[in-house]
Amino acid sequence: MDMATDLVVRGGTVVDGSGTRRADVLVRGGRIVAVEEGIAVGGALGADVVDAGGAYVVPGGIDVHTHFALPVGAVTSADDFESGTLAAACGGTTCVIDFAGAGREPWQEALATWHDRARGRALVDYGLHLTVTEMPLDPDGAAQRFAAFVEHGVTSVKLYLAYPDRLMVDDDTLGRALAASRRTGVRVCVHAEDGATVETLVAEAVAAGRTGPDAVPSVRPPSVEAEAVRRAAGLAGAAGAWLYVVHLSSRAGLQAVLAARASGVDIHTETCPHYLHLEQSHLEAGAPDFVCAPPLRQASDRAALWRALDAGDVEVVSTDHCPFTTQDRRRGTGGTGWTDFRQIPGGLSGVETRLSLVYQGVLDRRLSLERWVDATSGSPARLFGLDGVKGAVRPGLDADLVVFDPGATRRLDAANLHSRCDHSPYAGLEVTGWPAVTISRGDVVAVGGEPADPRPGRGRFVRRTPLRP
Ligand code: MN
Repeated sequence: MDMATDLVVRGGTVVDGSGTRRADVLVRGGRIVAVEEGIAVGGALGADVVDAGGAYVVPGGIDVHTHFALPVGAVTSADDFESGTLAAACGGTTCVIDFAGAGREPWQEALATWHDRARGRALVDYGLHLTVTEMPLDPDGAAQRFAAFVEHGVTSVKLYLAYPDRLMVDDDTLGRALAASRRTGVRVCVHAEDGATVETLVAEAVAAGRTGPDAVPSVRPPSVEAEAVRRAAGLAGAAGAWLYVVHLSSRAGLQAVLAARASGVDIHTETCPHYLHLEQSHLEAGAPDFVCAPPLRQASDRAALWRALDAGDVEVVSTDHCPFTTQDRRRGTGGTGWTDFRQIPGGLSGVETRLSLVYQGVLDRRLSLERWVDATSGSPARLFGLDGVKGAVRPGLDADLVVFDPGATRRLDAANLHSRCDHSPYAGLEVTGWPAVTISRGDVVAVGGEPADPRPGRGRFVRRTPLRP
């Protein structure tokens, strides 16, 4: 690994958890060493200069929810660690946390497989969560397993309350995970959809001949999200453990989160750009490319999520990046073409467009600049064990920086983006505000939204710290 050259990012407006101020940023050895005005005339002789005049200088984005090269039946999500982290860099994200595990394989195997996929390919840094589908019955054994995750630098897990055929856990398993979380500081995340209810609604829809994408919103309604949040939060409260709800999509789900928080549960949540920007009308029009779970919702849900994001009730925006090519959507999870919506591989693109799509909320006056930065970098770092390493523009932290040009425009068509997926859910949408320069540990990795000297494999695995029990 070669040592990054010294760099000064000059003349920008720095925005992070410490506020908004004019400052230059001096980078040495891949780390931030100074953030103050007038560095350029001080001791930075010989350093490369990045001009940030007229731009925001923000901490590199941290996307805590990606699925690179995820096999789902006969097909695999379109981006691997190489294309996925390159797309991330072009859109201003300098760290992703991907979910290791495709099903019920042993955790050691899942971790080894994901390390193999990432090593030598990632352009920016990455961490891993583990997907948990079973837990030892013995509490000490359960805690020992989570302690082993921590030793491997993995300090968060996800359990699914949906997908009974391949991933769903019962309440006892979730309860054991929450108890182990309390003892080890591993954060428990849940996919909050009530799987049993979804199965019933799916069976009814299919029996009634409603087999197209237009049926998806009604078989995974907001009520199944709210019910799963209530159930998981009840268990977390009983265990005195933390809970994180991934990809919150609805107003009803949000109300369940807020109610749990008001009753004293230490609960946090994220939403995704597609729940902020897109609606279920795409599915009602029969478009298989918009299938994801939870599904896209209505205008009232979007509005509630934007308000909650501004208020800090929803702390994080991650992407659940998991696109499938048009061909793979057609092939379906069985590989021979889908006959009903159950076989359409679900998931949308997002890792490259997240920063700008959330910034649109700043332009629309739905969100402050500070909340934009906190939701895309500060909170993810704080909640997922990267505090003191990434997530702020502060001396001592990794020099993961984005010079964000508030005047740059971009049409979010697949041809202008770097995912290997051949379609974008935001096709036709033009955004204002895009990263001019993305810096990862002092290396310029993207300029003007295009890769700069891409060196796959320079990205490193980041070991994360556990929560303090
Ligand atoms: Mn996901």
